Amino acid sequence: MSEKIVIGVDIGGTTIKLGICSSEGELLHTHEGPTGVEDGSDAVCQNIADYARLIIDESPYSWEQVEGVGVGIAGFLDIPNGIVKLSVNLYFNNVPLKDILEEKLQTKVLVNNDANVAALGEAWAGAGRGISDCVCYTLGTGVGGGVIINGKIVEGFRGMAGELGHMSVVPDLEAIQCNCGKMGCLETVSSATGIIRMAKDAVQRGDRTSLSFVPDIMAKDVLDAAKAGDEVAMRIVSRAAFYLGKSMAAVAVILNPQRFIIGGGVSKAGEFLFEQIREVVRKLTPEVAQEGVEIVPAILGNNAGVVGAAGLIIRS
Ligand SMILES: [Zn+2]
Repeated sequence: MSEKIVIGVDIGGTTIKLGICSSEGELLHTHEGPTGVEDGSDAVCQNIADYARLIIDESPYSWEQVEGVGVGIAGFLDIPNGIVKLSVNLYFNNVPLKDILEEKLQTKVLVNNDANVAALGEAWAGAGRGISDCVCYTLGTGVGGGVIINGKIVEGFRGMAGELGHMSVVPDLEAIQCNCGKMGCLETVSSATGIIRMAKDAVQRGDRTSLSFVPDIMAKDVLDAAKAGDEVAMRIVSRAAFYLGKSMAAVAVILNPQRFIIGGGVSKAGEFLFEQIREVVRKLTPEVAQEGVEIVPAILGNNAGVVGAAGLIIRS
């Protein structure tokens, strides 16, 4: 067997997930193991290297076929040098991850942030397969983002390109402070956290809503209530959809991507949510900038991280 393969590594706070991909982005084999954060950054790096050897050993492939190892990690990175400057949940502080892994594995290693990597996964082998320009949103605890142009991640001057969750879209009078310290960021309204907050505010204000009877409101409760016709929940969801659409209208005239891909827990609300977002984009975007542009759900789910990490080796 001489077919080339790439390994993708998705480092989470508790689990490291790995995947072997073909050079076309097909996920061939997966492996996961504990991150071992409590043992310190050296131990985490050693675990990554051990798991990378292991996944090859337990697969029908050989180390000679490996073209490289891509790694996705949450945190502030020096992307070109593969240094993790700060990763809060992993307690990484100035860890030269690329150099350490290249030394241990004797192959090319590329490191990028988890949101960019997930976007690349979708663009390469998911909902963006076959097209070159797409912009991805992940609606989870926050709003993650990634921009893929000409098939490659747009990193920007300091690696901060594609931080879509921090586009300031909410007008001053309604804006609240974001985790980043600034006011009115998209993720304050369109993330699961934002949706839950708006729902709790409504309940506290005494608005008449079925959500008053939900003990611990989750974003899914709000989306379900909206689908069932609860007016307060519908208002919250349409607000989340509005600001998402507003941000896409801005992105559409800056980058003119062919596809917007939306993933993450909130996106599971499906067409109910997507139709509202498309309607806002139709209203706010000049005709020529929205012609042929599609807004579609992500399809790789939790695998976007490992597939995209592997994609770093192919698409760079
Ligand atoms: Zn922010």
